[in-house]
Amino acid sequence: MAEKILVENLRKQFHDNEVLKGINLSINEGEVVCVIGPSGSGKSTFLRCLNRLEKIDKGEVIIDGVNIADDSTDINLVRQHIGMVFQHFNLFPHLSVIENITLAPVDLGKLTKEEAQKKAIDLLDTVGLSDKSEAYPKSLSGGQKQRVAIARALAMNPDIMLFDEPTSALDPEMVGDVLNVMKKLAHKGMTMVIVTHEMGFAREVADRVIFIDEGQILEDTTPEQIFTNPQNERTKNFLDKVL
Ligand code: ADP
Ligand code: MG
Repeated sequence: MAEKILVENLRKQFHDNEVLKGINLSINEGEVVCVIGPSGSGKSTFLRCLNRLEKIDKGEVIIDGVNIADDSTDINLVRQHIGMVFQHFNLFPHLSVIENITLAPVDLGKLTKEEAQKKAIDLLDTVGLSDKSEAYPKSLSGGQKQRVAIARALAMNPDIMLFDEPTSALDPEMVGDVLNVMKKLAHKGMTMVIVTHEMGFAREVADRVIFIDEGQILEDTTPEQIFTNPQNERTKNFLDKVL
């Protein structure tokens, strides 16, 4: 299996707050990795370093063989094949659903308008929102917005998808629809890194679960192992609180 993501001794600080204290990780093509850990432990910062939304202070982040920590790397090119989905959707409010989805591939010259429209229609079908293409974000539920956000990310044909707590802002009854879309994506072989509090999802869908605490990976293992027999005391304490 080809290595998609290699992180070596990644360090990041905000002023004197050291948030990532030497992260090491390798993720293969098609792997689904869930990242869990307490609030403030550095999960979002870690995820944002994977497409350099945060400046990388030290260490290496190698995506498909390209070190994005290197200032000379054209990060926009790398980002074109990394989709990201946030807790708060970040849809463009003044654009319809289909315009949200077609904007980036057309603007960046990846697809013609017609190709992008066709792709958007397919993607809306995939996320179960075929009837919403002309709707505006404000008329959608949180779960629908998040599924549009996923479709929008997929419109660029990414081969890596990053999710930062994609269901944390949703009403409970919306969570399942979004997780099901993510599950489909996982089964299609997408490489995925997912920060989540959905332990049931992590257990069912992840190939690996990573526990981050205070800026360090304390455990990196199978869902089976981490949920039934966590090795680290801090993992145990965390899981006792959330399970
Ligand atoms: P998590 O996602 O695990 O809750 P974060 O990565 O968001 O954790 O945050 C880790 C730490 O970094 C926290 O102490 C947070 O306050 C701090 N932090 C995150 N982003 C910034 C920022 N842009 N500026 C300053 N501090 C930040
Ligand atoms: Mg976070």
